[in-house]
Amino acid sequence: MSSTNGVLRAILTVKEKFSITPHYIRVVLTGPEVEQFAITTIGVNNKIFLPPRPGGEIVFPIFENGAWILPNPDEKPIVRTYTHRGIDMKKQEMWVDFVNHGDSGPASAWANRAQPGDKLGIAMKGHPVQLYPNADWYLLVGDATAIPVLSAILESLPASAKGEAFIEVQGQEDEQTIATQTDVDIHWLHNPHPGINSPLEQAVRQLSLPDGLHGTRFAYVAAEFSSVQAIRQYLRKEQFWDRDELYAFSYWKYGKSEDGSAQERREERKNV
Ligand SMILES: Cc1cc2nc3c(=O)[nH]c(=O)nc-3n(C[C@H](O)[C@H](O)[C@H](O)COP(=O)(O)OP(=O)(O)OC[C@H]3O[C@@H](n4cnc5c(N)ncnc54)[C@H](O)[C@@H]3O)c2cc1C
Repeated sequence: MSSTNGVLRAILTVKEKFSITPHYIRVVLTGPEVEQFAITTIGVNNKIFLPPRPGGEIVFPIFENGAWILPNPDEKPIVRTYTHRGIDMKKQEMWVDFVNHGDSGPASAWANRAQPGDKLGIAMKGHPVQLYPNADWYLLVGDATAIPVLSAILESLPASAKGEAFIEVQGQEDEQTIATQTDVDIHWLHNPHPGINSPLEQAVRQLSLPDGLHGTRFAYVAAEFSSVQAIRQYLRKEQFWDRDELYAFSYWKYGKSEDGSAQERREERKNV
C-alpha cells in the first residue's frame, strides 16, 4: 500500500468472483492493504490498474515533483474508472462490480476471466467524500454502469429521503436488489442495446419535477454520453435547474474506449 498525492493505492488479490445478474460481475478483492481504505466513501470512483498483458506485473505511475511519471511503455498498466462498491474490514475484502459487456474492452474482458489469485491495482482518494448534498427531493438516473454509485446513494440516504430513480438495464433479469430505507421510487427500464436508444431521457421528460421554490432538489445523472448530455440540457435549459442542483457525468461513450472519450466527456460537462 502507498499513498501518493493524497491517493491511496494498493495491489489486491482476487478472492472470488460471481455474477450478480447475467450482465454484472462482482469481483471480491483481498489483501492486508484493504485496511488502509477504511476511511474511503462507498460509491466514490476509483481507478483500476490492469496488467499490460495477462499475467503481467502491475506497475503504478510515480508522483514526483508535482507530476505523474509513467512506467516504461511496455510496463504501462491499462487504467479504467470504476466505483468503490463495498468494503468488509473483518474479512479484509473490497469489491468492484463490473458491467459485463463482453471482451470489447480490457476491463470487462479482465472481469470475465478473473480467477482467484489474480492481481488488480486499485487507487482512490484517501479521504471521505460527500457524494450528494442534502435535498428535499432526489432524481437519480443511470444506466448499468451507475448501479454501484446509485446503490451507494440509495443505501446511505435517510429514511425520510424522497424522489425518483430511473435505472436502465438490458432486461428484467438484470435488475438488482437495492437495500434502501428511503421513499425513493425505483423504476427499472429495459434496453437490450446499451448505448443505443436509451429510454432514460424520455423517462425524465415524462416526470413531473418539483419547482425548486418550495424545497431543495438534487439530480445525480451517470450514464452513457448521449443520455447524460440530453438530460443535462433538459434540466438546465428547459427546466432551468441551477448548476449546483445537478451532478451529471457521462460514464462511457458508445463506440469509444474510456481513454478515447475522456476529453469529450469532460468537455460535455462544461457546455451547459
Ligand atoms: C466515475 C465513473 C465510475 C464508473 N463506475 C463503473 C462501475 O462501477 N462499473 C462499471 O461497470 N462501469 C463503471 N464505469 C464505466 C466504465 O469506466 C466504462 O464502461 C469503461 O469504458 C469500461 O472499460 P472497458 O475496458 O471494459 O471498455 P473500453 O476499452 O473503455 O471500451 C471498449 C468498447 O466497449 C464499449 N463499452 C464500454 N462500457 C460499456 C458498457 N457499460 N456497455 C456496453 N459497451 C461498453 C465502449 O463504448 C467501446 O466501444 C464508471 C465510469 C466512471 C467515469
